[in-house]
Amino acid sequence: MAKAEQTYFCEVCRQKVVVVKDGFGVLVCCGQEMKLVTEKGMMATWTSAHRKPTGGVVYVCKECGQKVSVVEETTGILECCGQRMQRESYK
Ligand SMILES: [Zn+2]
Ligand SMILES: [Zn+2]
Repeated sequence: MAKAEQTYFCEVCRQKVVVVKDGFGVLVCCGQEMKLVTEKGMMATWTSAHRKPTGGVVYVCKECGQKVSVVEETTGILECCGQRMQRESYK
């Protein structure tokens, strides 16, 4: 189960998200569970390598209320609770 401020990434498309609001659902991308990023060194490498802000794209699960902010946006489809997450945009 995801917790707020944890970072998850997709091993298939490399999409990376930060959990803004945790829910009971499992984050899925490209048909498989997203992996929790735990190593600080790994994170540091990535943030310095990809300095491209994505404009605060947020996805929400209508089922469990889980909310994630996309750090690295790809074409991968984010799912939670067996359904596509809804895209929101904050300015
Ligand atoms: Zn959910
Ligand atoms: Zn993916």
